[in-house]
Amino acid sequence: MKYENTLAHALQLDKEDPLSEIRQKFHIPKDSSGNEWLYFTGNSLGLQPKQTQHYIQQELDDWAKLGVEGHFEAQNPWLSYHEFLTDKMAKIVGAKPLEVVVMNTLTTNLHLLMVSFYKPSIKKYKIVIESDAFPSDRYAVQSQLEFHGFNIEEGLIEWKPRTGEELLRIEDLEEIVEKQGDEIALLLIGGVNYYTGQYLDIKRIAEIGHTKECMVGIDLAHGAGNIQPNLHESGVDFAAWCTYKYLNAGPGSLSGLFVHEKHAYNKELPRFAGWWNHNKETRFNMRQPFDVMPGAEGWQLSNPPILSMAAIRSSLDLFDAIGMDALREKSEKLTGYFEYLINEIDTDRIRIITPTNSKERGCQLSIQVKNADKTLHEQLMKHHIVTDWREPDVIRCAPVPMYTSFEDVFKMVEILKSLV
Ligand SMILES: *Cc1c(COP(=O)(O)O)cnc(C)c1O
Repeated sequence: MKYENTLAHALQLDKEDPLSEIRQKFHIPKDSSGNEWLYFTGNSLGLQPKQTQHYIQQELDDWAKLGVEGHFEAQNPWLSYHEFLTDKMAKIVGAKPLEVVVMNTLTTNLHLLMVSFYKPSIKKYKIVIESDAFPSDRYAVQSQLEFHGFNIEEGLIEWKPRTGEELLRIEDLEEIVEKQGDEIALLLIGGVNYYTGQYLDIKRIAEIGHTKECMVGIDLAHGAGNIQPNLHESGVDFAAWCTYKYLNAGPGSLSGLFVHEKHAYNKELPRFAGWWNHNKETRFNMRQPFDVMPGAEGWQLSNPPILSMAAIRSSLDLFDAIGMDALREKSEKLTGYFEYLINEIDTDRIRIITPTNSKERGCQLSIQVKNADKTLHEQLMKHHIVTDWREPDVIRCAPVPMYTSFEDVFKMVEILKSLV
């Protein structure tokens, strides 16, 4: 792409953008004089699609009208409501419908997945994570180690960037697994790192783990709706992600879960049970011995919250109408433009640490600030440019292709330039 550092060029890019109209479908927060914020934190909490209130209202109306009968008689019967989400969610992460379900929240699902896929023995019990894993993931695996009676210091292996570098190198993971693979039970890696924005080669990670019979799980909290991870083809054993970041389904909304087809019919896998992973045919016959369902649905425990699922359904309908390929195409252009403009600023106060190769990142750019000077982030906020600060020294900015324009990106960088 050839970019230009002018407002006219940004406006031209918006004009050529086939997705520019989608922005109208979202509520964009405004300041007190009615000016739209420049919202760069869709990686943390995605904005609200305007149609979401109608999806939720539908279920409130059916509940008011039908009470318990809504399980069968609602326009969208609640009994099988989660099934409305499956096909569209499967497309977003490149999976087969059998492999995907929406349930619980992310960290809960990581634990449920580890019940099945972290089966340590005295010799093979270690877990590999990225040294800069999201805290919840780190706490989750640490508590799994302790739950199984292992020591965290011995059991946790960190895949670290080399000294003086920010990004992970796949060769270093290869070396860890080559040397210690016989003691490693599980690799649990963030597909897109929350801090640096680095998008790792998920397929390669699966191959590396499987050479030494380690299970491989991927956290896609920063991947789902941002990049196309092609989960089925990647061969990873399991994955989970939340739906309130790029998937725009509202604060605290439910999680997506993937279990690869190769495990779909394995009834021997240890797992926790509830009535919702019991065979649908006999679920309501009560007093039946537990009979686990095949596929990802076989990890559900409870009947799910319909109001939260209505918001997810609304969002998935938008994703489905656009398609991940078109979104990704815009995303690469938009983030490319953002990167170009930042690099045009003549300063040594800031530096992008996210990979420059668009295949190794999603839409987020992480801007490292010299001397960890947090005031720059505060000043951006004062200008209603919403970004977030992550300790120790990074401002994370995500121009989300669904609702961010090239003009937004241009204006944002103009202000950033004036501040540095
Ligand atoms: C956002 C995020 C979480 C949050 O977990 P919840 O259980 O939804 O609160 C966990 N892990 C990663 C990598 C995240 O980015």
